[in-house]
Amino acid sequence: MAKIGFIGLGNMGLPMALNLMKAGHEVTGHDIFPAAIEAATNAGLRVDAQAAVQDVDIIITMLPNGKLVLDAYKVILAKANPGTLLIDCSTIDVADARTAHDQAATAGMLSADAPVSGGVGGAAAGTLTFMVGGTDAVFAQAQPVLATMGKKIVHCGSAGAGQAAKICNNMILGISMIAVGEAFVLAEKLGLSHQALYDVASTSSGQCWSLTTYCPVPGPVPTSPANNDYKPGFAAALMLKDLMLSQAAASNAGASTALGEHATEIFRKFVDTGHGGTDFSGIINEIRGKTA
Ligand code: NAD
Repeated sequence: MAKIGFIGLGNMGLPMALNLMKAGHEVTGHDIFPAAIEAATNAGLRVDAQAAVQDVDIIITMLPNGKLVLDAYKVILAKANPGTLLIDCSTIDVADARTAHDQAATAGMLSADAPVSGGVGGAAAGTLTFMVGGTDAVFAQAQPVLATMGKKIVHCGSAGAGQAAKICNNMILGISMIAVGEAFVLAEKLGLSHQALYDVASTSSGQCWSLTTYCPVPGPVPTSPANNDYKPGFAAALMLKDLMLSQAAASNAGASTALGEHATEIFRKFVDTGHGGTDFSGIINEIRGKTA
């Protein structure tokens, strides 16, 4: 069993750290937010800023953005032992992820970018999907640890490839949710019932996750956030964050992503008008022009 430091004990990080602890690892957490520290302590996790980075085998970061990850790496790289395995599970810019890898290599550490999909429910259940960027040797070392927090661990390629996979996937998600929302709004105008459109599209070529798992109208998929007043789920602010990361990467790489760009603007308007905390499937109300 490994000694693991876990930095960032928020909505995702705390349940992930607890799953590592349940699997028998010796886990020490760190967070800067008093309520997160209290929740972790109450859940039985040891929290200690120094012990989370010194004399541990592995350090996992689960932070809101790339700047915070690079800031945390300054401390980690100064205090951790050479050879420590650093796994960043945050969703961050591909360029920041590559910088983090370069800095880790310079300091003699091993590193992987390993963003996740599966949300808070997947973090609690230990069923996350991890998208991993890094060398074969690092992946072999990280895989068993990630497997205690997830059910699918995919080696996507070299440094930054995990983040690349994450933002490409979420660009599809943002675009497809808008497409599904537009289809339901058009169906309403044409006098077609939600259930009829669902029954056809869910078994036809329009089938996709945004339709069959997060159906943006109440009824056809009882567990979708639309049935719970669009409570997240996956908040629109996080969708916008990931779309913006996709557009930054597209711009750096010279890729044309016209629909990704348009989806970003649609979600930006939704978030800017006070709906950042609404589930992203609530975008259908923006499309309908009567945002709740
Ligand atoms: P969160 O805001 O709930 O948690 C982040 C935690 O990091 C907070 O507790 C914060 O206090 C802490 N933190 C910030 N700066 C710190 C520092 N310098 N040192 C220590 N702790 C610090 O966010 P979350 O929902 O847990 O998301 C974390 C990451 O996972 C994000 O990058 C997000 O995009 C990604 N993600 C989230 C979801 C989701 O459904 N919430 C799904 C997939 C991926």
